Amino acid sequence: MMKTENTVWHQQHISKTQRSQQKQQRPCLLWFTGLSGSGKSTIANAVDALLFARGCHTYLLDGDNVRHGLNGDLGFSDAARIENIRRISEVSKLFVDAGLIVSTAFISPFASDRTMARSKLQQGEFIEVFVDTPIEICEQRDPKGLYKKARNGEITDFTGIDSTYDVPKNAEIHLHTANLSVEQCAQQIIDYLVQHDFINANKQG
Ligand code: ADP
Repeated sequence: MMKTENTVWHQQHISKTQRSQQKQQRPCLLWFTGLSGSGKSTIANAVDALLFARGCHTYLLDGDNVRHGLNGDLGFSDAARIENIRRISEVSKLFVDAGLIVSTAFISPFASDRTMARSKLQQGEFIEVFVDTPIEICEQRDPKGLYKKARNGEITDFTGIDSTYDVPKNAEIHLHTANLSVEQCAQQIIDYLVQHDFINANKQG
C-alpha cells in the first residue's frame, strides 16, 4: 500500500533521548555486511551476548530469520534484495528509535543499499561493520553448504560467485576474520562502542 497525503507522522510523547537515558546507552545500528559464511551472524550473536551481559538493551535482526517472516515474500532478484534491505532498515530505525542497540546480519551486497540504510539514521548512529573474509575461506567454511550448491549450479545469483559484492570503502569497523577469533572480532566492536560513548566503559553484567 502506498503512503498517501493523508498519512501524517504522529509525534510521540516519549522521546528517543528519554528512552536512551532510561537505558543508559546511546542507541545505534551495527550493520554487518560481508559474504555468505564470512561470519556476520556468528560475530553479531557474540556481540549481542556481550552487550546483554553488560545490561545493555539490544536486538539482533538476522538474515535467515527475517526471510522466514517479514520478508518471506521476497526472493533474491536485484529488486527483491533492494526491498529486503529497505524493510530491514525501516524496522531497524524503529528499534533504534526505541533506544536499542540493534545489530543486523545481512549480506547487503550493494553499496547503494547500504547508503540508503545509512541515510535513514542520524549522523553517527549507523555503524557499518565489514566482515572481511576472503571468498576462499568462506567457501572452505561453507557452514550452510550453499557454496557447494552454487558451484553445482543449484543456486544462481549467489553473491561472490555470479552476483556482485561491493566491497565497503568507508566502514566504521573493519574485521579481518581470517586472522582473528570470533571473540577478538566481537571485542573490537565492543571497544568501538565504548570509545564512541554508545555504552558505558564501566557497565558490567
Ligand atoms: P554469515 O552470517 O556471514 O553467513 P556465519 O556466521 O553463519 O556467516 O558462518 C561463519 C562460520 O565461520 C561459522 O561456522 C563460524 O564458526 C566460522 N568462523 C571461523 N572463524 C571465524 C571468525 N573469526 N569470525 C567469524 N566466524 C568464524
